[in-house]
Amino acid sequence: MACQALPAEELLPDARGRGDKIAFKTKKAVAAHFFHLRLQKAPTAAYLHGTGRRLDDKCWWCNSGAVQTRDHKFCKRWKDAQRLLWRRVSEATKEGGRKRWPATATAALLADDRCTEAVMNFRSTAKIKSKAYYKRKAKWDKTAANAPKALASRYFQLRLNKAPTAPYLMWTGRRTDDKCWWCRKAPKQTREHLMKRCAKWQKEQDVLWRAIGLATKVGDKEGWKRTSTPVARVLADARCTEAILSFLASTHVGKWPDKPRE
Ligand SMILES: [Zn+2]
Ligand SMILES: [Zn+2]
Repeated sequence: MACQALPAEELLPDARGRGDKIAFKTKKAVAAHFFHLRLQKAPTAAYLHGTGRRLDDKCWWCNSGAVQTRDHKFCKRWKDAQRLLWRRVSEATKEGGRKRWPATATAALLADDRCTEAVMNFRSTAKIKSKAYYKRKAKWDKTAANAPKALASRYFQLRLNKAPTAPYLMWTGRRTDDKCWWCRKAPKQTREHLMKRCAKWQKEQDVLWRAIGLATKVGDKEGWKRTSTPVARVLADARCTEAILSFLASTHVGKWPDKPRE
C-alpha cells in the first residue's frame, strides 16, 4: 500500500537535502499533507468531527454550512487556488480535447500521478493543514485545553467513549464483565450510568446536572435535564465542558482502576 500511495519520485524531498534545509523541510511537509489527503487522514473538519475532535463538520473558512471534506471543491477561501489547481489538473490529464473539470472525483485526482504536482502546488498555497486546526481547537475547547493534562485526557477519553469504564475494559480484554464496580446491584457501567445513576457519585451527579442545566439555559427556556438528555449530547457540547471537568475532578470516573477487580 505504501508503494501505491507514493507520488512521482521527483516530487518527493531529495534525500540528500543538498544543503537546502528549508526547501527540504517544506517539501517534506507538503508531501506529508499530500499523503494525508490521499489516505483520507487530512485534518479536515469532517475528519476531525469523525474522530471526536470537533463539534461539527462544517468548513471553518466558508461559513456557508458546507461540509468540509476533501471533496469540498468550492471553498470560498481557496477559490483562486482551486481554480488554478483544476486548470493544471485538466492540463495534465487532457486526452484529446476533452475537459474534465469539475466532474472529476477528488479521489480519482489524488490517485492519478499525473495530478500529483498540481495537488502539491495547491497544498502549498491552500493551508489545509494542522496549523489552522490547532488554532481552531484552542478556540472551541479552551476550557478543556486549559485543564490539567490528566483531567483533560480523562475528559477526552470519556467523550470519545475510550475511558476505562467496565464495558471498555471488558471489550479490550482487561475485565471479564461490564458491571459497575461501585454499585451493589452492579448494572452495566456505561457513561450514562456513571454520569446519571451510579450510587457512588450521587452528590457529584446532582452538582453536575445543576451546572449543565444552567450552562444550557437560553433565555426563559429551561436548560437540559438529566432525565431527557443523553450523556453523549452533553459531552459534545462545549457549554458543558466546565461542568464535566469539575465532575471528573471530584470523582474517580474515567480513571484507571488500581487493580483488576474480578
Ligand atoms: Zn470552505
Ligand atoms: Zn455504579
